[in-house]
Amino acid sequence: MSEMTKKMQEIAREILVKGEAEVVIGWEKGTFWYLSPPAFIDKPEDVQRLVWDDFCHNNLSKYLVDLKNHEGKAAVFVKGCDSRAFNRLLQDKQIAREKVVLIGIPCPGLLDQDKAKELGKNSDLPKAQKCLDCQYPNPLVYDYYLGDKEALNEVAATKEAADYSDVAAIEAMSPDERYDFWTKQYDRCIRCYACRNVCPACSCRECVFDQTRVGWIGKANNSSENQFFALTRAMHVAGRCIECGECERACPMDIPIMLLNKKLVKDINELFGEYDAGIDIEGKLPLGHFDKNDPEEFM
Ligand code: SF4
Ligand code: SF4
Ligand code: SF4
Repeated sequence: MSEMTKKMQEIAREILVKGEAEVVIGWEKGTFWYLSPPAFIDKPEDVQRLVWDDFCHNNLSKYLVDLKNHEGKAAVFVKGCDSRAFNRLLQDKQIAREKVVLIGIPCPGLLDQDKAKELGKNSDLPKAQKCLDCQYPNPLVYDYYLGDKEALNEVAATKEAADYSDVAAIEAMSPDERYDFWTKQYDRCIRCYACRNVCPACSCRECVFDQTRVGWIGKANNSSENQFFALTRAMHVAGRCIECGECERACPMDIPIMLLNKKLVKDINELFGEYDAGIDIEGKLPLGHFDKNDPEEFM
């Protein structure tokens, strides 16, 4: 058992015994060695299920969205990306801060689960792309912290600039080439909604894609409706996407969803100034703030 797993189990036990929270949300080993899905622990004797390993990908803040409909508190383990998602949910008033106990974990970057599946346990596995792109691997907010706080400050000081070269390559295509590229991608979409279900920025109680009334959104699994779905979802999370990459990881059809998300992040930065969602909870939201002096070119 790793030192971090031991620390996780100890803190979870302590929180449950003291009654600081009714449930602790962490990760446990799944059906396969390369999966560590979410675990919901509500008894001290079950804390041994918790693990910290190279596959604790799920963004656990997603599961706090349901908490607003329940009494009581939840404790949740947060890596950098989970903590950014938590901050965004807080800004959207989807979570009450006092109902959550945050346990911060320093994140070294996780491994690519698809490569793990393909290459096997004893191979030298690459990091997941989302972790190679990650600018905030350590938690930005926490009540307990399970790592070394000095190392935390060092990492914060060495944040690197975001790399948009993959987005620039798509921008450089002609409109027809771009259309062909995205058509080929979204023709594979099976509308399973895994990308939505795993996303901490998708927090609407009633999602537009679940509407059954005529005129809302087509349910057919065809080229134009799949692309309409993709663009609508990307626009719905614009300004709230914290770039955790979970949508792309969860997609069973390997659709490069992050290219769409990153394009919107890049455009927002260019149009409204540098903005990383889920970092500054007091700051103005680029797409969530109204100013009477906003230009109205469209009108
Ligand atoms: S995106 Fe960052 S914080 Fe999230 S798992 Fe990867 S390295 Fe860790
Ligand atoms: S859209 Fe994807 S990358 Fe953005 S917050 Fe949702 S799951 Fe994470
Ligand atoms: S997870 Fe992939 S296949 Fe499923 S709806 Fe999203 S884009 Fe389509």
